[in-house]
Amino acid sequence: MGVEEKLPSGVLTANVSQVAGYLLKTSMWPATFGLACCAIEMMAVGTPDYDIARFGMERFAATPRQADLMIVAGRVSQKMAPVVRQVYDQMPEPKWVLSMGVCASSGGMFNNYAIVQGVDHIVPVDVYLPGCPPRPQMLLHAIITLHEQIIKEPHVGNRAEIARKVEQAALNA
Ligand code: SF4
Repeated sequence: MGVEEKLPSGVLTANVSQVAGYLLKTSMWPATFGLACCAIEMMAVGTPDYDIARFGMERFAATPRQADLMIVAGRVSQKMAPVVRQVYDQMPEPKWVLSMGVCASSGGMFNNYAIVQGVDHIVPVDVYLPGCPPRPQMLLHAIITLHEQIIKEPHVGNRAEIARKVEQAALNA
């Protein structure tokens, strides 16, 4: 059903937050990096078969300073953890994190000293995507879920506070 049919009166009302959320979700650029095998599936969403350009996301930003979505695609090694955090810190607000695959979300099968047991020990995560690896369709579904979340709650202004709390919890652990 088209918007016109849903709005017989031709009047649409929205609050400023919803408009901000709509604009943010239609111009979201992911940061360019991948950590392991999940990254291959992440790259697939940029191909014509899956066409992430439909969502205004065809440009993977080569610098974190121009990115607002971090897709953590793969297991996070202890050595890589500070780098992931630095990339996150360099992204401007508002920003979001999608944890792709069981390894990024919980360490997965790598239950050992070398792998961070969940990227949420390092950065705040907005969407967890299960699977090993998640198929590209699943990643698109997670992105659409994030878009819906952004429209409801654009997060403008409060992400820095959440990130500080995660950092403090990591320091205290
Ligand atoms: Fe690789 Fe599976 Fe871990 Fe993804 S979830 S990084 S595909 S082992």
